Amino acid sequence: MALDIRKSCSSLIILVRCFVVVVAAGCVGTHSVPQVTVSKRAQMHMGTLVTITVVSSDSSTGNVATQAGFDEIKRLEQLLSTWRSDSELSRVNAEAGRFPVKVSQETLDLVVRSLEMAQLTHGGFNIALGPAVEAWNVMDQQQIPNDKELQRLRPLVNWTHIRIDKEAGTIFLPHEGMRLDVGGIGKGYAADRAVEKMKQAGATGGVVALSGDIKTFGVLPDRKGFPVGIRHPRQEDSLLTLVELKEEAISTAGDYERFFERDGVRYHHILDPQTLLPARGCQSVTIIAKEGIVADGLDTGIFVLGPESGMALVERLSDVEAIIVDNEGKITVSSGLRHRLRVP
Ligand code: ADP
Ligand code: MG
Repeated sequence: MALDIRKSCSSLIILVRCFVVVVAAGCVGTHSVPQVTVSKRAQMHMGTLVTITVVSSDSSTGNVATQAGFDEIKRLEQLLSTWRSDSELSRVNAEAGRFPVKVSQETLDLVVRSLEMAQLTHGGFNIALGPAVEAWNVMDQQQIPNDKELQRLRPLVNWTHIRIDKEAGTIFLPHEGMRLDVGGIGKGYAADRAVEKMKQAGATGGVVALSGDIKTFGVLPDRKGFPVGIRHPRQEDSLLTLVELKEEAISTAGDYERFFERDGVRYHHILDPQTLLPARGCQSVTIIAKEGIVADGLDTGIFVLGPESGMALVERLSDVEAIIVDNEGKITVSSGLRHRLRVP
């Protein structure tokens, strides 16, 4: 019996090599060229490595903007994390089957957007999957729940049962044992919010990357955006392709990020809500969209839908592009993205 567990390096790699301030300053004729600084810092939040790159007119603005980005992510972790018992979502989960729980407008909006994502992906994306995610516990216990256990969980993972009262500002889970889990969308949302705080702090451009959930704004000096490398799902050190992002978010869901193997079968962390087993259609799904919340929600939902229905959905949506690697390693690229990809 082989047992192996790995937390890979990120599925997406931001190709910005400036860990210290880089300055492009000077005068051209009588026109002074504005000074630009680029800095990059990393911290651990939301259980993952968060990297913030900032483009700004001076280093002190850059420092303030970077801190504003990290502070926003820390704030959201307190609101949304389900492994902190004092978070708003944990309170909603704790009262399942008992009472509606009043939450902030922000938490309500995130849950509403998550339900829209569920609708869009025909339930492929499902924030009610909490009990099943817990039963698998892919990272810590590497357990394979038996059929009886999965059968017991089935009535508890129905996202259409989630009750939202927008006027009262409450969320109600009507059955005891139901649990919301925003692990499939929360990091993309956090990247969006952090970018807003960085802009308010005076940054002219930047990237917020929560591991494989990335949001960019503005451009790097002398570039048209921010170059990002997309990792090959089966070759750890090689890139599938490169893409330059401008005012866009990118997210990858992969079966190689959190998984274990037993008797030659790979068990990973993206579950198919129909079977409550790891989804089997894809090795990786990368989505590019305007918002991180859309890119992150769709990467998980489309991973579940599988390569054909998933790509058909992407082609129907505006401002959404995708690279899907199916379970045999075949790569499909959406029509609006093909001309933008570069060979690594
Ligand atoms: P990450 O970037 O952390 O790998 P993903 O966007 O790939 O996150 O989503 C995976 C996480 O989403 C899982 O760890 C779990 O918490 C949750 N999840 C698993 N399956 C689904 C699903 N079908 N719909 C929504 N969330 C899911
Ligand atoms: Mg996701």
